[in-house]
This record gives sequence, structure tokens and C-alpha cells, in this order.
Amino acid sequence: MHRKSLLWHIFLPFLAVIVLSLVLITGYTSRSLRDFFYQQSSSDLTTRAHLMTDEMVPLLLRDDEAAIQRTCEVRGKASDTRVTVVAPDGRVIGDTREDPAGMDNHGDRPEVREALAGRVGSSERYSATLGHRRIYVAVPVRHDGSIIAALRTSHSLTSIERALAVVQQRIALGGLLLAFGAAVISFVLARRISVPLRQMKEGAERFAAGQLGTRLSMAPDSEEIGALAETFNGMAEQLQDRIRTIENQRNEQEAVLASMVESVLAIDRDEVVIGINRAATELLGIEPAMAEGRTLQEVVRNPDLIALGKGVLGGGGPVEGEIVLRRDGERHLQVHATGLQGLEGQRLGALLVLNDVTRIRRLESLRRDFVANVSHELRTPITSIKGFVETLQNDPPADPDVARRFLTIVNRQADRLQAIIDDLLSLSRLEQEGGSAELAREATPVRPLLQDAVDISTARATDDVPTVRLECVDDLEVMVNAPLLEQALVNLLDNALKYSGTATEIVVAAHAEPDLIVVSVRDDGRGIAPTHLPRIFERFYRVDKARSRNMGGTGLGLAIVKHIAQAHGGEASVSSTLGEGTTFTITLPRRPDVDRAMDA
Ligand code: ADP
Repeated sequence: MHRKSLLWHIFLPFLAVIVLSLVLITGYTSRSLRDFFYQQSSSDLTTRAHLMTDEMVPLLLRDDEAAIQRTCEVRGKASDTRVTVVAPDGRVIGDTREDPAGMDNHGDRPEVREALAGRVGSSERYSATLGHRRIYVAVPVRHDGSIIAALRTSHSLTSIERALAVVQQRIALGGLLLAFGAAVISFVLARRISVPLRQMKEGAERFAAGQLGTRLSMAPDSEEIGALAETFNGMAEQLQDRIRTIENQRNEQEAVLASMVESVLAIDRDEVVIGINRAATELLGIEPAMAEGRTLQEVVRNPDLIALGKGVLGGGGPVEGEIVLRRDGERHLQVHATGLQGLEGQRLGALLVLNDVTRIRRLESLRRDFVANVSHELRTPITSIKGFVETLQNDPPADPDVARRFLTIVNRQADRLQAIIDDLLSLSRLEQEGGSAELAREATPVRPLLQDAVDISTARATDDVPTVRLECVDDLEVMVNAPLLEQALVNLLDNALKYSGTATEIVVAAHAEPDLIVVSVRDDGRGIAPTHLPRIFERFYRVDKARSRNMGGTGLGLAIVKHIAQAHGGEASVSSTLGEGTTFTITLPRRPDVDRAMDA
């Protein structure tokens, strides 16, 4: 809608009042002036007519028309008045301007008719003879009580009309001046109102744009506008207060959400994400800025999670479920979905709380596998022992050699059980001791430690022992728990002796690097296929089960090595080429105390 400026709202009524008053005043004044002039003229003409009647009577009585005509001409010209004498029958017998013989009968003229009837007649009309408006007055000329003629005087109205026109022009000019004055006053008035109003409008626009810290300057000369500005300022202050409170609340909420370990995601009734915390964006692998304002389907591509959200939005109660997210491998998430409720209990959306339970599930599965493995490993020797013992009990063999052989088998199986249990205990002890913090260490010369391990292993070996070479400088020392490191080396040496088969040489080496001590056991035996290498350190993992069992292996040797290395803050690794040999390496931090302090 097109809106008129305030200036027009003030100026137009002003102008209307001025124009109306001017029209009324001009009309009234013109009329009064005209009436006044008319009165003046007609009384003047009456007087002049009366003055001439006495002079006309003898001439009329004498019927001296030429004298009458001459008198009309002389008197008329002297007083700038047209004098006409009309006989009672209407015939013109004298006229200042015209020849009476050529003039038509004047008996029908209204003023003449009045005069012939004995009254003073007057009239105003356009004269066809002279071509302008005139005023006429006629008086009766009496002799001895009878009317012998009518004497008419007339005067042009042109001068009166000219005078009236001048007056009207002046009034119009005055009106124009007044209108101009009114415009100026309106402009000043309008500006006095509109300038503060415009300032207020600009101020309100600033408030609307969020600049609530600015204030409107007061307009002290107008109480109403000043009060309006104050109200505006008060409103801005209140708004600012409220917005600040809301912002604080929101910041607090965001801080709470951001510092939560649980991932939280809120959606509205249309499944549009209205809130998401950092943990959730990290877990789901999305940009925080991308998530808000998009639907759940766009943000997470997991149908189970979407279904849980829909379930709650559909009016269901709180729902709990576990979903599997395929991102960086499998991730198990426990989801708790509840409805978001407004103050009046209406459903606003849904809140999804996600807990990453991948580690727990993995540990559970590891524990399950471990228990299954242990049971399996224990069952074989136990079944065997039980079988032979039952045979000896129920059906003792007659041959004492057979019985002795049975007992030897039982004894070997019992040894096997003991080996498994010893290894399991070692592992559990290592796990319990956990980090390297509780491990008792001392500075240990490396070379004698390697030599001891070699001696123990070779003494135990039943087959032909390949050459075992030691590569280590004499003064190398390391901060370790010597018995544990020795156990690890013995395990590696035992394996090299047991499984390398065709090996001709085993090298036990140790050297120092800037931060590390690297200990390795290398054989040139049959090697291990690449498929086994990633799992070789797992508990109960064996490349060749039957061979391992025959050799009295428990499948826990390398797992123990790995744990010993980790307990020292180090690592165990393997590299192998089929047919060329295998190298197991243990790396240990050189100065564990310093390294630990730096880690912390
Ligand atoms: P085990 O008690 O069976 O020896 P380990 O954990 O010590 O269990 O070893 C796991 C498996 O790794 C062994 O069964 C064996 O097949 C393989 N292995 C270990 N060391 C060697 C080696 N030096 N050469 C070839 N294979 C080896």
C-alpha cells in the first residue's frame, strides 16, 4: 500500500480549510460589494433623473422633440450618463446615444413599465445596443398629476465589474500567500513530528536487527514522543535481558551436552535434528554444522537407529536397543530413546542417547572365546587321564609294562595340564600387574641374561640343537624385571628349537637404539606363512596344532611374550619368510621412568 507522507496529512487539510474559507469570503465579499455598488449607482441615477424631470416638463408639453433630444444629449454627455425619454405609448422621443427615430418601442422595458405606472423602476441587463451590461433607472415625469413621459437614466456596469475583479484578484493573491504560509507551517510541523518518528523507526529497526545495546535519543520538546522513545528503550532493555538469560541458559545446556561422554541427539516431530552434542558428531562421523536442521535420515544412514527414533515419535514409551554401526569397523551402540515433552505434556520430538559399548562387547567376546579355548585345551588331557585311570581301575592290564606305559601317559597329560595352568597363571599375573608401573625393575646387564635363557632352553631341548649364537656387547644394560624378560626369551628360544625344524643356526641378539633396547631371536628354519602372522600372538593360536601338542606346547607361549613386552612398556613383533626363517623381536623403552614421566 502506498502511504502518504505526514507532510501531506497536515498540509492537505490546511489547504482545504484555506481554499474553502477563501471561496466563501470571496463570494460573500463580491456579493456585498456588488450590492453596495448597485445601490449606490441606482440611487445616483434616480437623483439625476429626478433633477432632469422639471427641465423636461415644458419641452414635453410643447412637444418639442428636437429640444428634448438635444437636452438628452447635452445632459447625458455632461454627466457620462445615458438619458432616454420615453412617451407613455413607449415611443422613444430623446436619447443621449442614439437617434430616437431608429429606436424600437421601449414600452416593454421593465423599468419603463414601472415608471409609466407611476413608480421608480430599475433594472440591470445586457444592452444589445451598446454591447455591455448596464443599470437602468426610470422615473415618471408628471404634470398636473398625470404621467406625461418616463425619464430613464442608465450607467455602464463595466467600471463596477472591473473594480470587483481587482478585489477578487487581491483576495486570490492573499489566498495564495496564505496557502504558501500554510505549506511552510505544515512542513515545519510535519518535520517536528516526523524527524523523531523516523529516528524511532531507525532505532526500532536496529533493535530488530539485534543491536539491543543501542538506545533511542529522547525528544524532549514533545511529551508524547519522548514517552514513546522511553517505552521503546525500556522494551529494548527487557528484550536484551531476556535474550541474555536465554543465551546463558543455552550456553549452559550446550556446555553440559558437550561435556557428556554419552552421545546425545534430539529430533523434532518431523525427525529434523534440533540438537546434537560433540560426542554424537564424533561417534557418527558428521560435521556439527551439517547436522542441525537436517532430518535424521540425512544425518545417520542407519535404519535401526532411524526406526528407534520413529518408534518413539510414533507415541511409544522409552525404547532401548542395541545397534551396529559400520564405520571404522563395527561399532556397537546401546541406544536409549525417549520422547521429548513440552510443558503441557505435548510431544515435541525424541531424544536419543547413544553409548558406545564396542569395547565391552569385544571384551565379552574375547572372554567367551578364552573360556571356550581354555575348556577345550583342558578337556583333551583330562579326558585322556580319565580314560587311562578308568582302564587301570576297572580292567587293570595283566602286563605290568602296559600298566607302566599307561601311567607314563597319564603323567605326561598331567604335566601338560600343569603347563597350561602355569601359563594361564603367568598370563593372569601379568594382566593383573597390568601397566608397567607396578613392575619391579632393576638395571640388568643384558648379555648374561641372554646367556641364561639360552642355557635353560638348550638344556631342555631333546632333539639335536642347532648352533645358538649370541650377538650383544658386554656393557649393555636395561631396566627390566629380569626373571620376566628371561621367561620371554626362553619361550622364544623354545619355539625356535621346537618349530624351526631345519634350522642350522639361532641368533639371539640385543642392541641399543637412542630410546630403545631391541632384543631378537632369529632362526633360519621353515618360517611361518603370512596368513598366520597377524594372529600369532593370540592365546591358543597355533600354526600346526598337532605338532604343537606333541611338542608339549600350550599355545600360550607367544601370548606371554607379548604381555611381558607390554608390561615393560614395550612391544613384541614378528617377521618371517616361508623357507627362510623367522625373527621375533622385543623392543623395550631404554629409560622407562623418564618415558613414563613424559607420557604423563
Ligand atoms: P606353543 O605353546 O604352541 O608353542 P606359542 O604361542 O609359543 O605356542 O606359538 C604359537 C605357534 O607359533 C606355534 O604353535 C608354532 O606353530 C608357531 N611358531 C612359534 N615360533 C615359531 C618359529 N620360530 N618357527 C615357526 N613357527 C613358530
